[in-house]
Amino acid sequence: AEKTLCHDVPGALPVLGRDVTVPLVTGGETTYAALDYAASAPALQRVWDDVAAYAPYYGSVHRGAGHLSQLSTGLFENARATVAEFLDCRADDQVVFTRSTTDSLNLLARALPDGCRVFVFETEHHAALLPWRDAQVTCLDAPCTPQQAVETLERALADRDPHGPALVCVTGASNVTGELWPVRELAAAAHAHGARIVLDAAQLAPHLPVSVRDLDVDWVAFSGHKLYAPFGSGVLAGRADWLSAAEPYLAGGGASRAVARRPDGGVEVEWHEGAARHEAGSPNVIGAHAVASACKALTEAGWDNLGARERHLLAKVREGLAEVPEVKILSLFGADAPRVGVLSFVVEGRSSSDLAVALSAEYGIGVRDGLFCAHPLVRTLLGGDRRARRECGAPGSAPDGTPLHAVRVSFGAGTPDEHVERFVAAVK
Ligand code: PMP
Repeated sequence: AEKTLCHDVPGALPVLGRDVTVPLVTGGETTYAALDYAASAPALQRVWDDVAAYAPYYGSVHRGAGHLSQLSTGLFENARATVAEFLDCRADDQVVFTRSTTDSLNLLARALPDGCRVFVFETEHHAALLPWRDAQVTCLDAPCTPQQAVETLERALADRDPHGPALVCVTGASNVTGELWPVRELAAAAHAHGARIVLDAAQLAPHLPVSVRDLDVDWVAFSGHKLYAPFGSGVLAGRADWLSAAEPYLAGGGASRAVARRPDGGVEVEWHEGAARHEAGSPNVIGAHAVASACKALTEAGWDNLGARERHLLAKVREGLAEVPEVKILSLFGADAPRVGVLSFVVEGRSSSDLAVALSAEYGIGVRDGLFCAHPLVRTLLGGDRRARRECGAPGSAPDGTPLHAVRVSFGAGTPDEHVERFVAAVK
């Protein structure tokens, strides 16, 4: 762990890529400051070491009798158990390994019962907004407070046929503002109206502990590459019934228990129930192992320590940006609303794209600019939606040089103080 600057703030966890140098447009070079954790976080060194330790020994999974096949199978199933523990799942929940949060939510969308209605806020990431195309979707207005989110959902659910199936999909922490959503209260509202709820924890799980039991959500989805594991693996965990009743997400070996040729020339298949039903083909064992390793590493680092460090970094960024009057931070729930280490802003009169390019070219800082795969939310926050702008007090756009995009800075367990200090100095 890095040397701490302040005795009560733990150091950053060791991650890959901390020594990578990048050229600067001004000549010379500097170490790369990765401040785009919300898109993909660097892998923890510990995760990389765990993967490297296993890599020489991997063999076929689930089907082999050989020693290394058994090792792979054991590793894959242990990873499932580790993730279940990390998410504090109920005993009969299923953990399905997927490619990403997007994949997990699309899987769930394919498992909706007939006639299921879906309720989703317009503020969601597209991965949570778009997969429900075969269902009747109600897209709810952006709320101005967490309480208003709950009331809006309650009103919408009260208006539906209470006997039909319904699903609410909600984020735990916004990928644009970093603000926390009232997940427990939304879950209670959903259940009170006979609906189910899936939590998009893509931005929540890397920053705060997620307890399926405590939040009382029916499913949770997250991505390995935002949780300090490499690309390519994700998780959908939760209730078994809809998953076991649905057609397999992918058809093929591994998902099928028994297959036979019918006398009429067709093919008959009996599908597995549970996670295997949706994991046809050879699974990404290394990816699952990496996710499990990240889960263990975060738990061992301790959420209190991780939280203290993140608050420390967030305070530095907020205090620094507050000294630049042209900077407007985007927020739905207000300046003091609790948030994770994700923050978007505009600089009045400046193009966000130019800012992001300059941060990279002149300072070696990697941030993101754009609409962050949450077009309705960012447009609302930038003032395109006058109702939200007036009621929420979100920053408008400058009469000249209207910022069409925002800049997002995001950080986490591997971020050293120097990266956020360089960022603040560069913006200033
Ligand atoms: N939901 C949220 C809140 C996100 O931030 C993201 C990624 N930006 C996703 C879903 C999709 O994650 P992935 O790209 O890993 O599928």
